[in-house]
Amino acid sequence: MEGRGDLGKGGTLAGQCAGASVEPAWRSLLAGAVRDPDELWRLLALPADQLPAARRAAAAFPLLVPRGFLALIEPGRIDDPLLRQVLPLGAEGQDPPGFSADPLHEDGFAAVPGLIRKYASRALLVTTGACAVHCRYCFRREFPYQGLPRGRRWWAPALAWLAAHPEVDEVLLSGGDPLSLPDSQLAALAADLAAIPHLRRLRLHTRLPVVLPERVDERLLAWLGATRLRPVVVIHANHPRELAPAVVAACARLRAAGATLLNQSVLLAGVNDDAAVLAGLSLALFDAGVLPYYLHALDRVRGAGHFLVEDDPARALAAELAARLPGYLVPRLVREEPGRPHKVPV
Ligand SMILES: *Cc1c(COP(=O)(O)O)cnc(C)c1O
Repeated sequence: MEGRGDLGKGGTLAGQCAGASVEPAWRSLLAGAVRDPDELWRLLALPADQLPAARRAAAAFPLLVPRGFLALIEPGRIDDPLLRQVLPLGAEGQDPPGFSADPLHEDGFAAVPGLIRKYASRALLVTTGACAVHCRYCFRREFPYQGLPRGRRWWAPALAWLAAHPEVDEVLLSGGDPLSLPDSQLAALAADLAAIPHLRRLRLHTRLPVVLPERVDERLLAWLGATRLRPVVVIHANHPRELAPAVVAACARLRAAGATLLNQSVLLAGVNDDAAVLAGLSLALFDAGVLPYYLHALDRVRGAGHFLVEDDPARALAAELAARLPGYLVPRLVREEPGRPHKVPV
């Protein structure tokens, strides 16, 4: 609880309201993110022969990457592990068999619109389809976001469902990325959730602290630090180079506001399918006050086949990690299997 007191409880919203009319800096950074493959190619001096295929892939699932993340990428290196996560490629049209639009069958687990309930004690709110970065391996690339709740009154059915299910004590905000919503909406949602007495924890699954660390500003910290619910923030870094100084500072701000920080990664061919890289990631996370939580096997979503690491090499990597690191820095290698009561070890 250390550090929560000064942000918490009474009198905390003043700072938020004082600046409420000014657009937060992260909004303009997000608006200025790179969306055009031609510009990406120019900025990073990438080989021209791969640009036409990139344009085609980006027409199916748009390119989106904040400039701060691009600054961490080495120009001229088409195989840079950070670039590869966001790079539209011709290979996206050539998946191996078994890749589909909704590999997790999430459609079948929507309790009410926008609320996915798969596990007994937790429920997940798909808060928005928007994100600050388009990861090419995203398993919700084709999620039917247009049917989603849009404003506070749209949450009413999900809130009513939660109020009627006392066995659920934790709500996950996911998306898209929940932190692409304005803090006014998030603060209102957090207040509505905190008013449901049996809820104890509020978990945010977000990549913004990594790809747009400016998002972790005073307005966010004000409501996150003030809620009755215990905040857990699960960030999403896949490679140690993503933990740049600005990202480490954003993590420190979240911790000072009282959040417990965890990381989930996806095991991705050509990005982090290497024991030294994964060990380096765990160590860098720990230095930033973040514990490694899950290492997810790739969900077989259409367009992501070029990231696949088969189960045997994945298990060998996990074994090597366990041999190199203290137990608390070894993430659990898991996958999501529709119909199971928890994520399943690979
Ligand atoms: C992953 C996931 C959760 C959270 O699972 P934990 O094991 O608690 O991290 C909850 N709901 C859904 C639908 C999920 O996919």
